[in-house]
Amino acid sequence: MRLRRRRWAVTTSLSALAALLVAVPAQLSAAGEGASAPTKQPVAVGTGGGVASMDLGASQAGIDVLKRGGNAVDAAVATASALGVTIPFVAGPGGGGFMVIYLARQHEVVTIDGRENCPAACTKTMFIDPKTGQPYNYDYASDQPLSTGVPSMVATWATALQKYGRLGLADDLQPAISLARNGFRTDADFQQLTQSELPELQAYPASHWLLTSAGQPLPVGTLLKNPDLARTYGLLARYGPSYLYDGPLGQAIVQADDHPVTTPGQTVVQLPGIMTTSDLRNYRAHIQAPTHVNYRGLDIYSMAPPSSSGTTVGEALNILSHYNLSTESRAEALFHYIEASKLSYADRNAYVGDPRQVSVPTQELLNPKYAATRQCLIGSTAATAPVAAGNPYGPYKSCPSSSAAAQTTNEGLHTNNIVTADKWGDIVAYTNTINFFGGSGQTVPGYGFLLNDEMTDFDFAPPATGATDPNLPASGKQPRSSMGPVIALQHGRPVFSIGAAGGSTIITTILQTLINHVDFGMSLPDALAAPRVSNTNSATSSAEPLFYNSAVAKQLTSQYGEKFTETGGSILPLDYYPGDATALQVLGGGKVEPIAEPVRLGGGSALVVHPSK
Ligand code: GLU
Repeated sequence: MRLRRRRWAVTTSLSALAALLVAVPAQLSAAGEGASAPTKQPVAVGTGGGVASMDLGASQAGIDVLKRGGNAVDAAVATASALGVTIPFVAGPGGGGFMVIYLARQHEVVTIDGRENCPAACTKTMFIDPKTGQPYNYDYASDQPLSTGVPSMVATWATALQKYGRLGLADDLQPAISLARNGFRTDADFQQLTQSELPELQAYPASHWLLTSAGQPLPVGTLLKNPDLARTYGLLARYGPSYLYDGPLGQAIVQADDHPVTTPGQTVVQLPGIMTTSDLRNYRAHIQAPTHVNYRGLDIYSMAPPSSSGTTVGEALNILSHYNLSTESRAEALFHYIEASKLSYADRNAYVGDPRQVSVPTQELLNPKYAATRQCLIGSTAATAPVAAGNPYGPYKSCPSSSAAAQTTNEGLHTNNIVTADKWGDIVAYTNTINFFGGSGQTVPGYGFLLNDEMTDFDFAPPATGATDPNLPASGKQPRSSMGPVIALQHGRPVFSIGAAGGSTIITTILQTLINHVDFGMSLPDALAAPRVSNTNSATSSAEPLFYNSAVAKQLTSQYGEKFTETGGSILPLDYYPGDATALQVLGGGKVEPIAEPVRLGGGSALVVHPSK
């Protein structure tokens, strides 16, 4: 213990702090190499590797480490840590995520489960109000430190780099340190994201001072510096993840969570957290096998539970394999997409949870024979949703009748997806988050980053009294997630990757973008930009305005009985905004095409190391 105290003590002296903020090599400047600074564009084509993310500065951070000899894993960590600076509302050391990695040399897809754990003190009734015996209101609970899970982002970065990276945490954090120290200009999206979480940010002096101007969103164009986060990343660069998981940063996180310092008179924050330093010490990111299905000759790999993306996208694709979507009318094909989404979502809600604590029938949900028992339930008109879950355990004989409705769940609509590629052919698709925009709203005092509110991804109560529910909170358990990008291979070679933000709509965004590209023949940028429609097993599908007002939507209503709710017309209200996506196409000859959103949430940024002329 004495040793550890001595070990960390040096970081508190000013001279040591100055030493931590080592000079950043010229090639790691936020503007990158070359005379002209890169501009924000949604699509780039070129060689040497590429990055797509929500933000230019973050994508540039990834490109910087690729130029320094880093690989796609290094670039993913650099991009994610920089995003924690420039869009702290969706990223940073206070959250968690899932990484899908194609390793070119090994011809193998591996994944890292970097999901937050519920602290050891969690119980299945933690989100039941003792005063009423009823579940807490979802939005209320999301604002509470009680909803903060064990931050797992840094452990994920360290695990990924240790197993698969070429540089290391110290090198890969340098672009983010530079961005945090030198500052960046806030834009309209930053302002709107702040606005969406203003009461939560105002409730904490540390968030108020960092992210607002006298309690109001920062004016567009503000040069925002975050010296605390620069210092935090500097300490992690110097001491490694143990500075968080077994050191002063962990103690500060626990202190902030369990004894939050709040603004006098605030009424938002009421339920303190229950985290301990043991929870941090016990956290491990897990390397695990991906999910796999074959769809029209493509091998589609994604995240296994506790993410529900792999099983739900996979089951839906297995259902859709029964149709020739490319020759159907667009209305018929989209009808099949919506119905397949309802059925696979019902199974997701009924069966997917943390596989280390509950039995999850992952392989059964991905069995094409099981999908056949679900596909046969699709008739010629829309099923009334929510539809019931099936029985994935088999035997898969007849077409079972579907009766009782399954539960629907509350989920946020936030997050980010990063995709990176390197000159060796490796690809990383990384969805990460602090959950709601702004997470719990609490900035760890002195450390410059927001804490997650990921534990609200648990179901607060079973669907009916006594009913089984794989996603109830428990000690050390991970809540079910929708995050999980896909990487598609054809004849053993990667061809594309798609990932998305947007809570439960992550899954449908990936599905729709995938069929837009594979079945409808759209280019991947067009597939990603196309108007979205999403059904997560609810009575109506959420449709973006361009979809909602389209002829095909009218046909889906008149001919197939589908119902739509218009959503996401403007950035606000953010709670109903469909999450933005990123993708990457492998073009051959060493060329890649990273792809970001052209419009949603202000558009994203795609960059390559050597742009094609
Ligand atoms: N917590 C969500 C999940 O894991 C992601 C955050 C969001 O997109 O709202 O699925």
